[in-house]
Amino acid sequence: MTSQRGSVTLIGAGLTGPLLAICLMQRGLPVRLYERRPDMRRVRISVGRSINLALSTRGIHALRQAGLWSEIEKIIIPMRGRMMHSVAGELTFMPYGKDETEVINAISRADLNIALMNAAERCGVPIQFHERCTGFDLQTGALHLRNGGTDAETTIAADVVIGADGAGSAIRADMLKLPRFNFSQHYLDYGYKELMIPARADGTHVFEPHALHIWPRGTFMLIALPNIDGTFGCILFLPFEGETSFAALDTESKVLSFFEAQFPDALHLMPALAENFFSNLTGAMVTIKCSPWQVDGKALLLGDAAHAIVPFFGQGMNCAFEDCTYLLELLDHNGPDWSALFSGFERSRKADTDAIADLAIENFVEMRDRVADPRFLFRKTVELELGKKYPGLFVPKYAMVTFHRTPYAVAARRGTTQDRILAELCDSVQRLEDIDWEKAEVLVHHELTPLAGV
Ligand SMILES: Cc1cc2nc3c(=O)[nH]c(=O)nc-3n(C[C@H](O)[C@H](O)[C@H](O)COP(=O)(O)OP(=O)(O)OC[C@H]3O[C@@H](n4cnc5c(N)ncnc54)[C@H](O)[C@@H]3O)c2cc1C
Repeated sequence: MTSQRGSVTLIGAGLTGPLLAICLMQRGLPVRLYERRPDMRRVRISVGRSINLALSTRGIHALRQAGLWSEIEKIIIPMRGRMMHSVAGELTFMPYGKDETEVINAISRADLNIALMNAAERCGVPIQFHERCTGFDLQTGALHLRNGGTDAETTIAADVVIGADGAGSAIRADMLKLPRFNFSQHYLDYGYKELMIPARADGTHVFEPHALHIWPRGTFMLIALPNIDGTFGCILFLPFEGETSFAALDTESKVLSFFEAQFPDALHLMPALAENFFSNLTGAMVTIKCSPWQVDGKALLLGDAAHAIVPFFGQGMNCAFEDCTYLLELLDHNGPDWSALFSGFERSRKADTDAIADLAIENFVEMRDRVADPRFLFRKTVELELGKKYPGLFVPKYAMVTFHRTPYAVAARRGTTQDRILAELCDSVQRLEDIDWEKAEVLVHHELTPLAGV
């Protein structure tokens, strides 16, 4: 058995593993990283999951703290709002925030992953690819690995193992065997399929690049995020089963007719639609909650391994990066007493990750269904107005989650109160001019002042 005493062993070189590895190395703590996939910089592999992601304040903060933001900033496209596409092809733009500073940023998952792995290696982190963790003995500290190319099995003696190995975590699987380990997983009835809209011949985007495009259709939707190469990464969200579902779209002609009827303005821009539709897997979306996240300072779960969420608030990665921020703040204050550090981390974080899991489900309904509803759009306009009138006091829920680092649980609580205020102001009114602003003043001060500040 090879010994790895004295260093931190990280499992998973996805998005969070390399970031944490860099930050630990910067603090003088040696790290080794094991990843089950081959090295995507050398072998062409599908990175799986969404093609591109929305990166926002929490993620940016963590990257900035690690000294990586100036590099990552070069490969993002800011998106200022949602661009809704009706079946007739009419476009409606809804800004995300109060001004140009409140944007979310599209980034290619592969480019980000590569940038993080390069930076980790520059810091001296050894990354062993094609090494799948097959188990971790929490009693003895024996970590088992299997090489994906040769099938060779290795066992390593590890002091501290951090599982950044995603929603299907192998480290969590071993924790599941412990007494009183709490675990829940809930799959949506919806799946997702990654598709692509190519760039124009001159390399430019076919739609407005500074927007997240949505084709909301009630019980399903298509979204598209811009890439810096002029393409759009698209995701179709559709029920697995039923009349309008992935199961029902089982031939090329059915797929093309479905797109013709529902997303005609996208269809003629997707020449490889049918081919992509049938060659790309249909992904599942799961919410995972578990506790404890750590075992006696020997093992810790982080990111999706501890708290996978559905993608509709664009927060999974941002939340996972914020895990690093919280963990490192505690480490900087208290030093590497792993047991105290890991349990302190879980105490400071669990309520927040539970809250964002619930908010993400709530946003699913909003994106798929309500963004096409004029009443909802009116409420959003009033919400933005209240945000401008009472900065720091009335902060739209989306903004608290996306543009601030307000703890998610606080954002959820304040958001519920704000939703009540909005309902009271908007329900019997059609136009902004008819809002009772005096009542708004009273409600905002009376209901929101007592709550903790943002
Ligand atoms: C469709 C979709 C869209 C999304 N959009 C967004 C978005 O816009 N914004 C956002 O913030 N989040 C988004 N997310 C969520 C985001 O992808 C995840 O939250 C994020 O990737 C979590 O990072 P992680 O490092 O915890 O896990 P991952 O990025 O999944 O990395 C885990 C790594 O561990 C490796 N691994 C797994 N098992 C083993 C093993 N046994 N041994 C060794 N290595 C292993 C994997 O190969 C992988 O490299 C989206 C997710 C989906 C599905």
